Amino acid sequence: MNLDELKEKIKAAGVIGAGGAGFPTHMKLAPDIDTVVVNAAECEPLLYTDFTIMQQYMDKVAAGAEAVCQALGAGRVVIGMKEHTAAKLMLEDGAKVGRLSSVKLMPDVYPMGDEIVLIYQTLGRVVPPGQLPSSVGVVVINVETAYNVNNSVSGIPVTEKWITVGGDIPSPAVFRVPVNCNVKDVFKAAGITVPEGHVVLDGGPAMGNIINPDAAVVTKKTKSLLILPDNIPAVIAKLIPASRMIIRTPSACCQCFHCTEICPRYLLGYPLEPHKTLRAAGIEMTEHPEDLRTASLCSGCGVCTLMACCQGVSPSVIMAEVKKNLRAKKIGYRASESTVPNIERDNRLVPVDSFKKHIGVDKFDRAAPYKGKLKVKQSIYKLMLSQHAGKPSVPVVKAGDGVSPGQMVARADSGISAALHTPVGGRVSAVTGSHIEITVSEVG
Ligand code: SF4
Ligand code: SF4
Repeated sequence: MNLDELKEKIKAAGVIGAGGAGFPTHMKLAPDIDTVVVNAAECEPLLYTDFTIMQQYMDKVAAGAEAVCQALGAGRVVIGMKEHTAAKLMLEDGAKVGRLSSVKLMPDVYPMGDEIVLIYQTLGRVVPPGQLPSSVGVVVINVETAYNVNNSVSGIPVTEKWITVGGDIPSPAVFRVPVNCNVKDVFKAAGITVPEGHVVLDGGPAMGNIINPDAAVVTKKTKSLLILPDNIPAVIAKLIPASRMIIRTPSACCQCFHCTEICPRYLLGYPLEPHKTLRAAGIEMTEHPEDLRTASLCSGCGVCTLMACCQGVSPSVIMAEVKKNLRAKKIGYRASESTVPNIERDNRLVPVDSFKKHIGVDKFDRAAPYKGKLKVKQSIYKLMLSQHAGKPSVPVVKAGDGVSPGQMVARADSGISAALHTPVGGRVSAVTGSHIEITVSEVG
Protein backbone atom coordinates (compact mmCIF):
# COMPACT_ATOMS: atom_id res chain seq x y z
CA MET A 1 0.00 0.00 0.00
CA ASN A 2 1.44 3.41 -0.87
CA LEU A 3 1.65 6.30 1.59
CA ASP A 4 -1.45 8.15 0.35
CA GLU A 5 -3.57 4.99 0.47
CA LEU A 6 -2.43 4.15 4.01
CA LYS A 7 -2.98 7.73 5.21
CA GLU A 8 -6.51 7.61 3.79
CA LYS A 9 -7.25 4.31 5.60
CA ILE A 10 -5.85 5.61 8.90
CA LYS A 11 -7.79 8.87 8.53
CA ALA A 12 -11.03 7.05 7.68
CA ALA A 13 -10.62 4.85 10.78
CA GLY A 14 -10.14 7.84 13.11
CA VAL A 15 -6.75 6.71 14.42
CA ILE A 16 -5.01 9.16 16.74
CA GLY A 17 -2.06 8.83 19.11
CA ALA A 18 -3.51 6.54 21.76
CA GLY A 19 -1.42 8.09 24.54
CA GLY A 20 -0.27 11.68 25.03
CA ALA A 21 -1.57 14.54 22.93
CA GLY A 22 -3.77 12.48 20.57
CA PHE A 23 -2.21 13.76 17.37
CA PRO A 24 -4.07 12.36 14.32
CA THR A 25 -1.83 9.57 13.07
CA HIS A 26 -2.29 10.18 9.35
CA MET A 27 -0.83 13.68 9.84
CA LYS A 28 2.35 12.24 11.38
CA LEU A 29 3.37 10.33 8.28
CA ALA A 30 5.85 12.43 6.32
CA PRO A 31 8.55 11.55 3.79
CA ASP A 32 12.28 11.12 4.58
CA ILE A 33 11.80 8.73 7.49
CA ASP A 34 14.25 5.86 7.88
CA THR A 35 12.99 4.37 11.17
CA VAL A 36 9.59 3.82 12.78
CA VAL A 37 9.94 3.67 16.56
CA VAL A 38 7.15 1.98 18.49
CA ASN A 39 6.75 3.53 21.92
CA ALA A 40 6.32 0.49 24.15
CA ALA A 41 7.87 2.14 27.20
CA GLU A 42 4.61 2.20 29.20
CA CYS A 43 6.24 5.07 30.94
CA GLU A 44 3.99 5.71 33.93
CA PRO A 45 3.80 3.43 36.99
CA LEU A 46 0.68 1.25 37.54
CA LEU A 47 -0.15 1.00 33.82
CA TYR A 48 -0.36 -2.38 32.07
CA THR A 49 -2.29 -1.31 28.99
CA ASP A 50 0.40 -1.50 26.32
CA PHE A 51 1.94 -4.55 27.97
CA THR A 52 -1.40 -6.35 27.63
CA ILE A 53 -1.87 -5.36 24.00
CA MET A 54 1.61 -6.70 23.22
CA GLN A 55 0.96 -9.85 25.23
CA GLN A 56 -2.26 -10.49 23.31
CA TYR A 57 -1.49 -9.07 19.87
CA MET A 58 2.22 -8.45 19.31
CA ASP A 59 1.72 -9.66 15.73
CA LYS A 60 -0.87 -6.92 15.06
CA VAL A 61 1.27 -4.22 16.72
CA ALA A 62 4.26 -5.20 14.55
CA ALA A 63 2.05 -5.45 11.45
CA GLY A 64 0.62 -1.94 12.03
CA ALA A 65 4.08 -0.46 12.52
CA GLU A 66 5.38 -2.31 9.46
CA ALA A 67 2.50 -1.01 7.33
CA VAL A 68 3.64 2.50 8.28
CA CYS A 69 7.27 1.56 7.68
CA GLN A 70 6.61 0.18 4.21
CA ALA A 71 4.35 3.04 3.15
CA LEU A 72 7.02 5.53 4.21
CA GLY A 73 9.80 3.59 2.53
CA ALA A 74 11.58 3.41 5.91
CA GLY A 75 13.91 0.49 6.45
CA ARG A 76 13.04 -0.74 9.93
CA VAL A 77 10.78 -0.73 12.95
CA VAL A 78 12.38 -0.47 16.40
CA ILE A 79 10.15 -1.35 19.35
CA GLY A 80 11.48 0.48 22.42
CA MET A 81 10.54 -1.57 25.46
CA LYS A 82 11.62 -1.72 29.12
CA GLU A 83 13.78 -4.68 30.14
CA HIS A 84 11.20 -6.06 32.59
CA THR A 85 8.41 -5.87 29.99
CA ALA A 86 10.55 -7.74 27.50
CA ALA A 87 11.38 -10.38 30.11
CA LYS A 88 7.67 -11.01 30.75
CA LEU A 89 7.06 -11.21 27.00
CA MET A 90 10.12 -13.46 26.71
CA LEU A 91 11.89 -11.16 24.27
CA GLU A 92 15.48 -10.04 24.26
CA ASP A 93 17.47 -7.17 22.81
CA GLY A 94 17.26 -7.37 19.02
CA ALA A 95 14.51 -10.03 19.06
CA LYS A 96 12.64 -10.05 15.74
CA VAL A 97 8.87 -9.74 16.14
CA GLY A 98 8.10 -9.14 12.47
CA ARG A 99 9.93 -9.03 9.18
CA LEU A 100 11.10 -5.45 9.74
CA SER A 101 10.61 -5.13 13.51
CA SER A 102 13.07 -5.73 16.30
CA VAL A 103 13.08 -5.01 20.02
CA LYS A 104 15.35 -2.45 21.68
CA LEU A 105 15.59 -2.83 25.45
CA MET A 106 15.56 0.24 27.68
CA PRO A 107 16.22 0.70 31.40
CA ASP A 108 13.29 1.02 33.81
CA VAL A 109 13.54 4.77 34.36
CA TYR A 110 10.98 7.56 34.24
CA PRO A 111 10.06 9.17 31.78
CA MET A 112 11.26 6.74 29.11
CA GLY A 113 8.07 7.26 27.06
CA ASP A 114 8.79 10.94 26.31
CA GLU A 115 9.40 10.57 22.56
CA ILE A 116 12.50 12.77 22.64
CA VAL A 117 14.00 10.56 25.36
CA LEU A 118 12.77 7.40 23.62
CA ILE A 119 14.42 8.32 20.31
CA TYR A 120 17.74 8.95 22.07
CA GLN A 121 17.50 5.75 24.09
CA THR A 122 16.58 3.54 21.13
CA LEU A 123 18.61 5.13 18.32
CA GLY A 124 21.15 7.46 19.98
CA ARG A 125 19.74 10.42 18.01
CA VAL A 126 18.89 13.75 19.65
CA VAL A 127 15.98 15.63 18.10
CA PRO A 128 17.02 19.30 17.87
CA PRO A 129 15.13 21.34 20.50
CA GLY A 130 11.68 22.37 19.29
CA GLN A 131 11.83 20.14 16.19
CA LEU A 132 9.75 17.09 15.32
CA PRO A 133 11.14 13.51 15.36
CA SER A 134 11.00 13.61 11.54
CA SER A 135 13.96 16.04 11.68
CA VAL A 136 16.13 13.03 12.60
CA GLY A 137 14.35 10.63 10.23
CA VAL A 138 12.02 9.10 12.81
CA VAL A 139 8.30 8.70 13.34
CA VAL A 140 7.11 7.47 16.75
CA ILE A 141 3.86 5.60 17.26
CA ASN A 142 2.44 4.13 20.43
CA VAL A 143 1.71 0.38 20.80
CA GLU A 144 -2.06 0.85 20.73
CA THR A 145 -1.77 3.24 17.80
CA ALA A 146 0.15 0.60 15.83
CA TYR A 147 -2.56 -1.92 16.73
CA ASN A 148 -5.22 0.54 15.51
CA VAL A 149 -3.29 1.21 12.29
CA ASN A 150 -3.30 -2.52 11.61
CA ASN A 151 -7.07 -2.57 12.13
CA SER A 152 -7.49 0.44 9.85
CA VAL A 153 -5.83 -1.46 7.00
CA SER A 154 -8.72 -3.95 7.26
CA GLY A 155 -11.24 -1.09 7.44
CA ILE A 156 -11.85 -1.44 11.21
CA PRO A 157 -12.35 1.96 12.87
CA VAL A 158 -11.37 2.99 16.40
CA THR A 159 -14.41 2.24 18.56
CA GLU A 160 -12.69 0.58 21.51
CA LYS A 161 -10.13 1.66 24.05
CA TRP A 162 -7.76 -0.51 26.04
CA ILE A 163 -7.44 0.77 29.61
CA THR A 164 -5.91 -0.21 32.93
CA VAL A 165 -8.31 0.24 35.83
CA GLY A 166 -6.08 0.28 38.88
CA GLY A 167 -4.67 2.07 41.90
CA ASP A 168 -6.01 1.57 45.43
CA ILE A 169 -8.57 -1.10 44.48
CA PRO A 170 -8.58 -4.83 45.30
CA SER A 171 -8.19 -6.13 41.74
CA PRO A 172 -6.56 -3.95 39.08
CA ALA A 173 -7.29 -5.17 35.56
CA VAL A 174 -6.98 -4.28 31.91
CA PHE A 175 -10.20 -4.05 29.88
CA ARG A 176 -11.38 -3.14 26.41
CA VAL A 177 -14.21 -0.61 26.64
CA PRO A 178 -16.23 1.39 24.09
CA VAL A 179 -14.80 4.78 23.14
CA ASN A 180 -16.60 7.55 25.03
CA CYS A 181 -18.35 5.27 27.51
CA ASN A 182 -19.00 6.85 30.90
CA VAL A 183 -16.31 6.38 33.56
CA LYS A 184 -19.03 5.76 36.16
CA ASP A 185 -20.46 2.95 34.02
CA VAL A 186 -17.00 1.41 33.61
CA PHE A 187 -16.64 1.35 37.40
CA LYS A 188 -20.15 -0.09 37.78
CA ALA A 189 -19.46 -2.85 35.27
CA ALA A 190 -16.11 -3.61 36.94
CA GLY A 191 -17.70 -3.63 40.42
CA ILE A 192 -15.61 -0.70 41.66
CA THR A 193 -16.61 2.00 44.13
CA VAL A 194 -14.43 5.06 44.60
CA PRO A 195 -13.67 5.19 48.35
CA GLU A 196 -13.92 8.36 50.43
CA GLY A 197 -10.69 10.41 50.38
CA HIS A 198 -9.73 9.18 46.91
CA VAL A 199 -9.54 10.79 43.50
CA VAL A 200 -9.81 9.33 40.00
CA LEU A 201 -7.09 10.04 37.45
CA ASP A 202 -7.39 9.77 33.68
CA GLY A 203 -3.79 8.76 32.92
CA GLY A 204 -0.82 7.84 35.07
CA PRO A 205 0.06 9.09 38.55
CA ALA A 206 2.65 11.57 37.23
CA MET A 207 1.00 13.11 34.17
CA GLY A 208 -2.65 12.07 34.55
CA ASN A 209 -5.42 14.52 35.35
CA ILE A 210 -7.96 14.38 38.17
CA ILE A 211 -11.42 13.81 36.69
CA ASN A 212 -14.95 13.78 38.01
CA PRO A 213 -15.95 10.11 37.59
CA ASP A 214 -19.64 11.03 37.50
CA ALA A 215 -19.21 13.26 34.46
CA ALA A 216 -16.10 12.05 32.60
CA VAL A 217 -15.93 9.70 29.62
CA VAL A 218 -13.18 7.41 28.37
CA THR A 219 -11.60 9.17 25.39
CA LYS A 220 -9.44 7.78 22.59
CA LYS A 221 -6.45 9.02 24.64
CA THR A 222 -7.35 7.42 27.98
CA LYS A 223 -4.74 4.81 28.94
CA SER A 224 -5.91 4.23 32.49
CA LEU A 225 -8.37 5.11 35.20
CA LEU A 226 -6.53 5.15 38.53
CA ILE A 227 -8.18 5.46 41.92
CA LEU A 228 -5.67 6.93 44.37
CA PRO A 229 -5.76 8.39 47.88
CA ASP A 230 -5.76 12.18 47.94
CA ASN A 231 -2.93 12.33 50.49
CA ILE A 232 -0.09 10.81 48.50
CA PRO A 233 2.55 13.11 46.91
CA ALA A 234 1.48 12.27 43.34
CA VAL A 235 -2.04 13.53 44.03
CA ILE A 236 -1.19 16.39 46.41
CA ALA A 237 0.90 17.95 43.62
CA LYS A 238 -2.20 17.96 41.39
CA LEU A 239 -4.50 19.47 44.01
CA ILE A 240 -2.61 22.74 44.47
CA PRO A 241 -4.10 25.36 42.11
CA ALA A 242 -1.61 26.80 39.62
CA SER A 243 -2.60 30.35 40.62
CA ARG A 244 -1.55 29.68 44.24
CA MET A 245 1.69 28.07 43.13
CA ILE A 246 2.57 31.07 40.98
CA ILE A 247 2.12 33.42 43.95
CA ARG A 248 4.17 31.16 46.29
CA THR A 249 7.07 30.45 43.94
CA PRO A 250 9.17 33.66 44.19
CA SER A 251 9.39 33.41 47.99
CA ALA A 252 9.68 29.61 48.22
CA CYS A 253 12.15 28.80 45.42
CA CYS A 254 15.74 28.94 46.70
CA GLN A 255 17.21 28.48 43.18
CA CYS A 256 18.98 25.31 44.28
CA PHE A 257 19.01 24.07 40.67
CA HIS A 258 17.91 20.51 41.57
CA CYS A 259 14.87 20.67 39.28
CA THR A 260 17.13 21.50 36.35
CA GLU A 261 19.77 18.89 37.22
CA ILE A 262 17.20 16.11 37.03
CA CYS A 263 15.15 17.35 34.05
CA PRO A 264 15.28 14.61 31.36
CA ARG A 265 15.37 17.10 28.51
CA TYR A 266 18.06 19.26 30.15
CA LEU A 267 20.06 16.05 30.47
CA LEU A 268 19.80 15.62 26.69
CA GLY A 269 21.46 19.01 26.35
CA TYR A 270 18.24 20.97 25.78
CA PRO A 271 18.45 24.63 26.89
CA LEU A 272 15.60 23.97 29.32
CA GLU A 273 16.36 25.11 32.86
CA PRO A 274 13.22 25.20 34.99
CA HIS A 275 14.91 27.05 37.88
CA LYS A 276 15.65 29.93 35.50
CA THR A 277 12.15 29.90 34.02
CA LEU A 278 10.72 30.06 37.54
CA ARG A 279 12.95 33.02 38.31
CA ALA A 280 11.82 34.81 35.15
CA ALA A 281 8.12 33.91 35.38
CA GLY A 282 6.07 36.92 36.28
CA ILE A 283 8.72 39.25 34.87
CA GLU A 284 8.21 40.94 31.49
CA MET A 285 8.96 38.64 28.57
CA THR A 286 11.50 41.16 27.24
CA GLU A 287 13.72 40.93 30.33
CA HIS A 288 14.62 37.23 30.19
CA PRO A 289 13.24 36.09 26.84
CA GLU A 290 15.31 32.88 26.56
CA ASP A 291 14.51 31.66 30.09
CA LEU A 292 10.82 31.93 29.28
CA ARG A 293 10.93 30.85 25.65
CA THR A 294 12.74 27.58 26.43
CA ALA A 295 9.76 26.54 28.60
CA SER A 296 8.14 25.49 25.32
CA LEU A 297 10.60 22.54 25.36
CA CYS A 298 9.11 21.13 28.57
CA SER A 299 7.39 17.75 28.17
CA GLY A 300 5.35 18.13 31.37
CA CYS A 301 6.78 14.88 32.77
CA GLY A 302 6.62 16.23 36.32
CA VAL A 303 9.98 14.83 37.45
CA CYS A 304 11.08 18.29 38.65
CA THR A 305 8.03 18.59 40.89
CA LEU A 306 7.82 15.01 42.08
CA MET A 307 11.51 14.15 42.55
CA ALA A 308 13.55 17.32 42.90
CA CYS A 309 11.94 20.13 44.82
CA CYS A 310 12.26 20.11 48.61
CA GLN A 311 10.66 23.56 48.97
CA GLY A 312 7.14 22.54 48.02
CA VAL A 313 7.35 24.34 44.69
CA SER A 314 5.88 22.65 41.61
CA PRO A 315 8.16 23.69 38.75
CA SER A 316 6.19 21.64 36.21
CA VAL A 317 3.02 23.57 37.06
CA ILE A 318 4.76 26.89 36.44
CA MET A 319 6.31 25.52 33.25
CA ALA A 320 2.84 24.52 32.03
CA GLU A 321 1.52 28.03 32.73
CA VAL A 322 4.44 29.69 30.93
CA LYS A 323 3.98 27.27 28.00
CA LYS A 324 0.30 28.17 27.83
CA ASN A 325 1.17 31.87 27.61
CA LEU A 326 3.82 31.21 24.97
CA ARG A 327 1.35 29.22 22.88
CA ALA A 328 -1.21 32.00 23.09
CA LYS A 329 1.44 34.43 21.79
CA LYS A 330 2.61 31.86 19.18
CA ILE A 331 6.12 31.92 20.64
CA GLY A 332 8.31 28.85 20.89
CA TYR A 333 11.92 27.77 20.94
CA ARG A 334 13.44 26.06 17.91
CA ALA A 335 17.05 25.07 17.22
CA SER A 336 18.45 23.72 13.97
CA GLU A 337 21.15 21.47 15.46
CA SER A 338 21.01 18.46 17.75
CA THR A 339 22.29 19.02 21.28
CA VAL A 340 24.90 16.98 23.14
CA PRO A 341 23.65 14.99 26.14
CA ASN A 342 25.06 15.88 29.55
CA ILE A 343 27.91 13.56 30.59
CA GLU A 344 26.12 13.01 33.92
CA ARG A 345 22.91 11.87 32.22
CA ASP A 346 23.14 8.17 32.95
CA ASN A 347 23.81 8.83 36.66
CA ARG A 348 20.83 11.14 37.00
CA LEU A 349 18.11 9.03 35.42
CA VAL A 350 15.23 8.31 37.79
CA PRO A 351 14.67 4.57 38.46
CA VAL A 352 10.95 3.76 38.40
CA ASP A 353 11.19 1.88 41.71
CA SER A 354 12.37 5.00 43.57
CA PHE A 355 9.93 7.13 41.59
CA LYS A 356 7.00 4.96 42.71
CA LYS A 357 8.07 5.17 46.37
CA HIS A 358 8.70 8.89 46.17
CA ILE A 359 5.27 9.67 44.78
CA GLY A 360 3.49 7.19 47.06
CA VAL A 361 2.14 4.64 44.56
CA ASP A 362 4.52 1.70 45.13
CA LYS A 363 2.01 -0.12 47.33
CA PHE A 364 -0.63 0.00 44.59
CA ASP A 365 1.52 -1.50 41.87
CA ARG A 366 0.15 -4.97 41.31
CA ALA A 367 -0.02 -6.73 37.97
CA ALA A 368 -3.30 -5.99 36.20
CA PRO A 369 -4.48 -9.12 34.36
CA TYR A 370 -6.38 -8.85 31.10
CA LYS A 371 -10.13 -9.34 31.60
CA GLY A 372 -11.24 -8.87 27.97
CA LYS A 373 -14.14 -6.74 26.80
CA LEU A 374 -16.01 -5.09 29.68
CA LYS A 375 -19.81 -5.17 29.35
CA VAL A 376 -20.52 -1.50 29.95
CA LYS A 377 -24.25 -0.89 30.21
CA GLN A 378 -25.36 2.63 29.43
CA SER A 379 -28.26 3.94 27.48
CA ILE A 380 -26.80 7.21 26.17
CA TYR A 381 -23.34 7.89 24.70
CA LYS A 382 -21.88 11.36 24.25
CA LEU A 383 -19.33 11.07 21.45
CA MET A 384 -16.89 13.95 21.87
CA LEU A 385 -16.01 15.93 18.74
CA SER A 386 -12.73 17.13 20.29
CA GLN A 387 -10.71 14.29 21.76
CA HIS A 388 -7.65 14.67 19.56
CA ALA A 389 -5.16 17.45 18.78
CA GLY A 390 -6.35 19.98 16.20
CA LYS A 391 -9.79 20.91 14.89
CA PRO A 392 -12.95 19.12 16.12
CA SER A 393 -14.51 16.37 13.99
CA VAL A 394 -17.37 17.51 11.73
CA PRO A 395 -20.71 15.71 12.29
CA VAL A 396 -22.10 13.81 9.28
CA VAL A 397 -25.29 12.66 11.04
CA LYS A 398 -28.28 14.61 12.33
CA ALA A 399 -30.78 14.13 15.15
CA GLY A 400 -33.17 11.29 14.33
CA ASP A 401 -30.73 9.29 12.18
CA GLY A 402 -30.29 5.61 12.92
CA VAL A 403 -26.66 4.47 13.33
CA SER A 404 -24.98 1.09 13.57
CA PRO A 405 -21.83 0.12 15.52
CA GLY A 406 -18.65 1.28 13.79
CA GLN A 407 -20.40 3.85 11.59
CA MET A 408 -18.60 7.14 11.02
CA VAL A 409 -20.66 9.88 12.70
CA ALA A 410 -18.20 12.75 12.22
CA ARG A 411 -15.49 13.23 9.60
CA ALA A 412 -12.07 14.77 9.99
CA ASP A 413 -12.02 18.52 9.27
CA SER A 414 -9.39 19.97 6.95
CA GLY A 415 -5.87 20.23 8.40
CA ILE A 416 -5.19 18.54 11.73
CA SER A 417 -8.34 16.65 12.72
CA ALA A 418 -9.72 13.10 13.09
CA ALA A 419 -12.87 11.17 12.25
CA LEU A 420 -15.20 9.74 14.89
CA HIS A 421 -17.19 6.47 14.87
CA THR A 422 -19.95 5.26 17.12
CA PRO A 423 -19.13 2.18 19.21
CA VAL A 424 -22.85 1.39 19.59
CA GLY A 425 -25.94 1.16 17.44
CA GLY A 426 -29.00 3.30 18.09
CA ARG A 427 -30.48 6.65 17.18
CA VAL A 428 -28.84 10.09 17.13
CA SER A 429 -30.69 12.02 19.82
CA ALA A 430 -28.71 15.28 19.60
CA VAL A 431 -25.88 16.95 17.72
CA THR A 432 -24.26 19.88 19.52
CA GLY A 433 -21.08 21.92 19.07
CA SER A 434 -19.22 19.59 21.41
CA HIS A 435 -20.69 16.12 20.98
CA ILE A 436 -23.04 13.73 19.20
CA GLU A 437 -25.49 11.99 21.51
CA ILE A 438 -26.52 8.44 20.67
CA THR A 439 -29.42 6.70 22.38
CA VAL A 440 -28.49 3.04 22.42
CA SER A 441 -30.96 0.60 20.86
CA GLU A 442 -29.94 -2.39 22.95
CA VAL A 443 -28.29 -1.68 26.31
CA GLY A 444 -25.80 -4.41 27.29
S1 SF4 B 1 14.17 22.46 43.02
FE1 SF4 B 1 12.56 23.75 43.89
S2 SF4 B 1 13.66 25.23 45.16
FE2 SF4 B 1 15.20 24.27 43.81
S3 SF4 B 1 15.33 25.65 42.05
FE3 SF4 B 1 13.83 24.10 41.55
S4 SF4 B 1 11.84 24.96 42.14
FE4 SF4 B 1 13.44 26.18 43.13
S1 SF4 C 1 8.18 18.84 33.69
FE1 SF4 C 1 10.08 19.53 34.68
S2 SF4 C 1 11.46 17.80 34.50
FE2 SF4 C 1 9.83 17.44 33.01
S3 SF4 C 1 10.56 18.35 31.10
FE3 SF4 C 1 9.40 19.93 32.15
S4 SF4 C 1 10.91 21.07 33.31
FE4 SF4 C 1 11.87 19.15 32.74
